[in-house]
Amino acid sequence: MQSFNPPVRTLMGPGPSDVHPRILSAMARPTIGHLDPVFVGLMDEIKEGLKTIFKTENELTMPVSAPGSAGMEACFANLVEPGDKVIVCINGVFGMRMKENVTRLGGEAIIVEDSWGEAVSADKLEETLKNNPDVVIVAFVHAETSTGAQSDAKALCKIAHQYDCITIVDTVTSLAGTELRVDEWGIDAIYSGTQKCLSAMPGISPISFSERAIKKLSTRKTSVSSWFLDLNLVMRYWSKGAKRTYHHTAPVNTLYGLHESLVMILEEGVENSWARHQRNHELLRDGLEAMGINFLVNKKNRLPQLNSVFIPEGVDDAQVRSTLLNDYNLEIGAGLGVYAGKVWRIGLMGYTSRKENIVLCLSALKEILGK
Ligand SMILES: *Cc1c(COP(=O)(O)O)cnc(C)c1O
Repeated sequence: MQSFNPPVRTLMGPGPSDVHPRILSAMARPTIGHLDPVFVGLMDEIKEGLKTIFKTENELTMPVSAPGSAGMEACFANLVEPGDKVIVCINGVFGMRMKENVTRLGGEAIIVEDSWGEAVSADKLEETLKNNPDVVIVAFVHAETSTGAQSDAKALCKIAHQYDCITIVDTVTSLAGTELRVDEWGIDAIYSGTQKCLSAMPGISPISFSERAIKKLSTRKTSVSSWFLDLNLVMRYWSKGAKRTYHHTAPVNTLYGLHESLVMILEEGVENSWARHQRNHELLRDGLEAMGINFLVNKKNRLPQLNSVFIPEGVDDAQVRSTLLNDYNLEIGAGLGVYAGKVWRIGLMGYTSRKENIVLCLSALKEILGK
């Protein structure tokens, strides 16, 4: 075996996105003990930083030591009890995974379905809530990375609360890339990921629970089926001021990386980060449209950080993507499900969302498609 030296790529797919050099160098700093008082100070700062970018006062805000999918499981495993009726809105891959979580936990999933590329329909959600008065949770994906569609989280949460439901919202791709306000919008349980718009490495899932969600958790009749993700236990490790006891070994250096990512977002300002993602999306959009390439999602529901575009007629999908990777060190994403072979998913997330990358992507595509 030899040391592994990866090529330097530009990551314009659905994640991971490019990791900022400041974050990479933060992760290379010396490892200290995870109960070292200095490290405990870092943990407290991470919690505060996450609260700021989530726009929440929720005390239970922390990073799960595992990727976004584990944040998803943490929300469902803690809040869904056997027999619970849960509305899951499905308009792409990640909604389907939410449903899988509900049924594996013994809950009953009631589906609100929208086509891939569309936003979740508030009217359909309301209709389904009317017809199922015993539903206790509404779950949906804010930013569907499989299609590039954005749903109106504020409106969906409002309806859910009118029917006394708590809300579970996937913001893995939206956090720091598009407007998101946990407290103002009434999101009760939220999970995200570090490798999309936070410019950081894969492997950590920031989550946050409201008082309403904590109440549901603390009045469970059954214990949480996952030991690792049981927030009753994890909270003792992450809660401020409490005497910290060993739960698991935190990924110390990865958390240095998340901390640096939060420092950088706060330096930029989270609203400015949303605006940068929008600005750069428009730049890419204008360039692609000038080449005759069209978007899958209509303008109103389009995510700035994930651009799904139709592959031009007669173009070999796999060949273009492999030429981009091999000749330009540029990664873009393939289509999924019904859109496999039909669309490309071009990500502009976090540190990737920069003008120079857009210029590279547009000129590389022009060269390849011109041949
Ligand atoms: C990437 C992603 C996930 C999964 O995150 P992992 O870190 O890959 O586990 C979940 N939901 C959405 C919307 C995503 O884009």
